[in-house]
Amino acid sequence: MNYPKNIRELSLDQLKDYFIAIGDKKFRAIQTYEWLWKKNARDFSEMTNLSLELRQKLEADFDLNSIRTDFIQNSTDGTVKMRFRTFDNHLLEGVIIPTEKRFTACVSSQIGCSLSCSFCATGRMERKRNLSFEEIYDQVAILNEQAIKTFGSGLTNIVFMGMGEPLLNYKDVLKAIERITAPDSFGMSPKRITVSTAGVAKMIKKLGDDAVRFNLALSLHAANDVKRNEIMAINETNNIKSLIEALNYFYAKTKSAITLEYVLLNGVNDSLQDAKELAEIYKRIPVHTINVIEYNTVEGIAFHKSDENHTEAFVKYLADRKVNVHIRRSRGKDIDAACGQLANK
Ligand code: SAH
Repeated sequence: MNYPKNIRELSLDQLKDYFIAIGDKKFRAIQTYEWLWKKNARDFSEMTNLSLELRQKLEADFDLNSIRTDFIQNSTDGTVKMRFRTFDNHLLEGVIIPTEKRFTACVSSQIGCSLSCSFCATGRMERKRNLSFEEIYDQVAILNEQAIKTFGSGLTNIVFMGMGEPLLNYKDVLKAIERITAPDSFGMSPKRITVSTAGVAKMIKKLGDDAVRFNLALSLHAANDVKRNEIMAINETNNIKSLIEALNYFYAKTKSAITLEYVLLNGVNDSLQDAKELAEIYKRIPVHTINVIEYNTVEGIAFHKSDENHTEAFVKYLADRKVNVHIRRSRGKDIDAACGQLANK
């Protein structure tokens, strides 16, 4: 029988077949599966209840391709940024954001990004490759261990708001979420997971067809196509109308929560006219919340955050019109861990 080289592609049953085929016992499969998905071993040598000989055999037959922690930074506000190195020497980043009630991991889905949104640091990096489902899973496992170490509590939430566009790495992102939510692994509720997209209408609909149970965030950032084209090139092929339609389809199929993200850029999208147009879009989508995001300055990018007066007036305009709006203050700025600052510095 032929097995995938990547041991994490094997189901428990396939692992059982493998151990029988090499003349060993079936329960080794359960032990190995636990090392992979419960104890999150990142090397065969860690699987210490298997004999040395067996570990060497696994090492010869399979790859694990785990990511390794390369560097950890702690922000004065408690945010932790971790840099990871892949087996083929790429760097990626993940963040733990502690609040009173939550420990949220922000994870990456790609190395770099192909979308080049004009205000985002990651968008200036070239997209090197997609992350595999196990690399995405590893980030969660490692960030979880680090959260326990630093805060005495594991992760309560996960957001796909790190580097990359998750819906352009659709298959592996969904597979990683399947593992994160599997009872024989993390068993996290999908309601605690949010995938954020710059807006790929076709893939938003596909999420609906696949009846996913996690939440979706759309990075809207501008309330008309002229402005959105200027700051997010993806809007030229995925305009606001197509996104509204896709989100309605997604909601009809899944009833999962939708949030809109709106980063306030000084003099670009922060006028009351913008707020008015945003309120109109809000009415046309079954949106739970609009998160108004404070912009984080990125070296070499000529956008600035809105001043406090504009921010307050913008949010007040929406709140007065019964829009469920929240301001998301930036976290981890001092270590470039905030939204749009992840660029492997
Ligand atoms: N590609 C996905 C996932 C990245 S999420 C998406 O676009 O949704 C990262 C979020 O931070 C997005 O909403 C992004 O638009 C926003 N962002 C990017 N640069 C930022 C910056 N400098 N300050 C604040 N938010 C930023």
